Amino acid sequence: MVANREELLQSFRTYVKKMQDYQSALALLGWDARTHMPKRGVEGRASAIGTLSAELFTQKTSDKMASFLEELSLVADSLDQTTRRMYEECKKQYDRQVLIPADRYEAMTVLVSQSESVWQEARKTSNFTLFQPYLQKIVDMKREFIGYWGYEDHPYNALLADFEPGVTVAMLDDVFAGLRAPTVNLLRRIEAAQQPDDTFLSRHYDPEKQRKFSLFILKEMGYDFDAGCLDETAHPFETSIAPGDIRVTTHFFPNFLNAALFGTIHEGGHALYEQNIAADLIGTNLHSGTSMGIHESQSRFWENVIGRSYEFWQRYYGDLKNMFPSELSDVSLDHFYAAINAVKPSLIRIEADELTYNLHIMLRYEIEKGLIAGDLQVKDLPEIWNAKMKDYLGVMPDSDANGVLQDIHWAGGDFGYFPSYSLGNIYAAQITRALEKDIPNYREHVTSGNLSEIRNWLVRHIYQYGSLLTPGEVLQSVTGESANSEYILDYFEKKFVPLYKL
Ligand code: ZN
Repeated sequence: MVANREELLQSFRTYVKKMQDYQSALALLGWDARTHMPKRGVEGRASAIGTLSAELFTQKTSDKMASFLEELSLVADSLDQTTRRMYEECKKQYDRQVLIPADRYEAMTVLVSQSESVWQEARKTSNFTLFQPYLQKIVDMKREFIGYWGYEDHPYNALLADFEPGVTVAMLDDVFAGLRAPTVNLLRRIEAAQQPDDTFLSRHYDPEKQRKFSLFILKEMGYDFDAGCLDETAHPFETSIAPGDIRVTTHFFPNFLNAALFGTIHEGGHALYEQNIAADLIGTNLHSGTSMGIHESQSRFWENVIGRSYEFWQRYYGDLKNMFPSELSDVSLDHFYAAINAVKPSLIRIEADELTYNLHIMLRYEIEKGLIAGDLQVKDLPEIWNAKMKDYLGVMPDSDANGVLQDIHWAGGDFGYFPSYSLGNIYAAQITRALEKDIPNYREHVTSGNLSEIRNWLVRHIYQYGSLLTPGEVLQSVTGESANSEYILDYFEKKFVPLYKL
């Protein structure tokens, strides 16, 4: 029996390792497609990605996997922590996928790929009617899938499980309800105050110099260039090719400094998480961040809590000024700090400031929840969207392209994804509070550019675990609580009241 057990564990691990290798190849093909691939490579690449994805899907749902899961279930209680979590993750994916009839899964894949290209056209021409029938089909099919999976309390819970396991509609309703009114209230007070002049951010900034500065900041954060690189792309992302190959991308706009500056720090935050997962998880399916929300908490922590802090620029503004002496000659540190933290309600989520960002997410969350529950109709979305924008942010989209059509997520079938962005912000504030308890003078470390102290704390408490702990376990072990919007509200007050002299 012991020999059998050892054989079982060994062959399970080998099987999982093989899936990781396929995943690695797919990540590299995907990274290249978005950075260096020539235009005419599209078709061949799509074919290669399709073949490898199909193979990976087969591995996850194979009879072999089924028999691993069955045998492991018999010994689950006596497994070591790593193997037990590997088993749980495989089982989750297996259950998720085998419950969908193969032809329906295939139909969804085809629908999503058509829908993404129709969405691009619809967005370009601001024509919601063009996209509407595709979105309708996606919503219908999501509801059908939820029927196969089953759910507790609310059908949307079945979708949240993909991105933020453990989080439910009841929790989100509660957290967002606590966040919304105080956010809107603070926003109204800010709107009545004097706005900083941020026009200097749109001067001409040589992209090559932006690149140099981005590299410098990544290095300061402790990003390991022997285990990654920085490349340029249209829509920045971080991707993990393999444990020693965690790549970051950014975008340099010649006439806008913020995008590359904070985009790089954001993706760098994702990368620090991935680069610091414990080596003994290599080859398992646990060598990655534990959820979208926890991942986003790290990118937001570095981008906003650290990267948009006064202390950070006390240390690094001199370096930025040296890089752009004439462009920033008339901009003081205080002026710069105020401008990069300007709060202005805007139409586009990805351009939103720290404070209004969560309002964009709440709006999307309510719409998704309504569509999935059958309380809202796809055909009414432009109207609903605009009414909510007016209600939450006080601005009215000038077109559907700048309104309901702005994000690719729904075209891609990614319902349940948006809340993770706000959860990331909320978690980041909670984690910062915990950091402050352990390292009360962490701000002084930022001022002196000693970011390693902070990074090491995150490695110890979060990064090293990868997916060995569930997102709920990570949050509990670091903060002693589940999601709680109190801390981010406190963070906003402490930041924006003095900044806007409210
Ligand atoms: Zn992110």
